[in-house]
Amino acid sequence: MTTIRRIKYDYKIRLDWRKYEAECASRRRSLYLLAPAVSILLAGMAYGKLGGPAVNLSGPAAPAAGIPAAKAPSSTTTPAPDEFGKLVFTLPPPNVLKTAPNLSTPPQPPQPAATVIFPTTPDQESAPVPPPAGSDADAARQEEEAEWQTITVREGDNLALIFDRLDLDAGDLDQVMRLGKATEALKHLSPDQELRFRIEDGRFMELLHPIDHRQTLHVARAGDHFTAEIVIEELDVHPAHVTGIIDSSLFEAGQKAGLSDNLIMQLAEVFGYDIDFVLDLRQGDRFTVLYEELYKNGRKIKDGNILAAEFVNDGRVYRAVRYEEEDGRAAYYAPDGRGLRRAFLRTPVAFTRITSYFSRARMHPILHRMRAHQGVDYAAPKGTPVKATGDGRVIFAGWQGGYGNVIMLQHGGSYSTVYGHLNGYAHGVKTGASVRQGQTIGYVGQTGLATGPHLHYEFRVNGVHRDPLKATLPKSPPIASNHLADFQEKTRPLLAQLDEITAVRQTTTAETMKSPAAVDKMAAGDSPVSR
Ligand SMILES: [Zn+2]
Repeated sequence: MTTIRRIKYDYKIRLDWRKYEAECASRRRSLYLLAPAVSILLAGMAYGKLGGPAVNLSGPAAPAAGIPAAKAPSSTTTPAPDEFGKLVFTLPPPNVLKTAPNLSTPPQPPQPAATVIFPTTPDQESAPVPPPAGSDADAARQEEEAEWQTITVREGDNLALIFDRLDLDAGDLDQVMRLGKATEALKHLSPDQELRFRIEDGRFMELLHPIDHRQTLHVARAGDHFTAEIVIEELDVHPAHVTGIIDSSLFEAGQKAGLSDNLIMQLAEVFGYDIDFVLDLRQGDRFTVLYEELYKNGRKIKDGNILAAEFVNDGRVYRAVRYEEEDGRAAYYAPDGRGLRRAFLRTPVAFTRITSYFSRARMHPILHRMRAHQGVDYAAPKGTPVKATGDGRVIFAGWQGGYGNVIMLQHGGSYSTVYGHLNGYAHGVKTGASVRQGQTIGYVGQTGLATGPHLHYEFRVNGVHRDPLKATLPKSPPIASNHLADFQEKTRPLLAQLDEITAVRQTTTAETMKSPAAVDKMAAGDSPVSR
């Protein structure tokens, strides 16, 4: 959440819902035609699941060593999971599905689990249209267009060489470069960048230099001197949505559903306070994500924010909507306005596996003595970012005995957290510094008494060690009462959209949907596919 908050949300949102809904309606129609096929597909899957070994893995199994084995999110494709593999969340190799399980029942259809129900690429009609221009303006533009030429920067090139090649006045170049900070970017040209020059009768008139997707430097002649300005072009925002089903991991299912890594991380962050993506995932968990795609000139540049999302974990439905306050800060809330954040993140590292749980007595792997393990160990590759689980202050960052490089944070009066065996510290993290929840404070390492790269994490309340996986974490406040009406108004279309998508899914999967809103909608016969 912190990451999202830090991103300055300054893209102009053009959510044309009416147009969007029309699009969705047409997609629904085509989906309706597809529904029987999808049902057959899913029925085949379900049959395969019941008959095959998959059911053992998704259902509760005999608990091993007092640890809830039912929480195993292992896939059917993980052969003979090891002691930890059974309990934890591991990233499968990319081709894991192709080395399919040898089910005795009908063969599983290819990639059935995470189906992209809707195409997420906007079609032609929804592509951004160029700004309207009168026919006079058009003509003038075309005339002007003829004077423009595009120059591709070569290896070892600079503006002086380019001016020379174009046979332009070196005095003009000198003036341009003396415009100061505005033209600084022109000193660092890189190969294959494209500069646009307007040259009139051999005289340099204008220059356009794209700095990034949004910013373009514009230098123009104004009489006997030049002016420079940075033109900021807003990206077009298009809503898109995607649905997926967890087979082995959120990451894999997300990728299969067509979500970018960035969106998968956002999704994990949005629900990270309610669902532990290391421990809680079950096979068959489902997600629906409504998000923004950012376009420029009809081309997708990148993904924007998640606008609303639903995650069905072990039959429980979690929903989140994004709400932006007047000051531009945005956060995710439950549909009724409850805060989704907690004062602490459950897990300080993303996508990892737990190798040692909190316990009062365990054999120490190096000391070979029985010792209490007053924290949780997360195995992760060296260099994996370690996040502060809560807002707080660094009370110690340095070397301390068996902990190796360790960071200790104080959160308010009674809570403190400890991050041990670090490889190093993030920039600016030193004793006395303030950190925010989710901020990277250090990197996983193997310093101190450690047999392999892992993070040793402790959670203390009034100095007493608590199991970070079980401790009750305080919640963040709900939406302010003076914003509630605005919140409801702005989030209503997003929730309606989620209802629609999940209603479609309900009819195709013939599964019980536990979201009351979706059920109401179905009962009311609002959704065309429910008839
Ligand atoms: Zn440990």
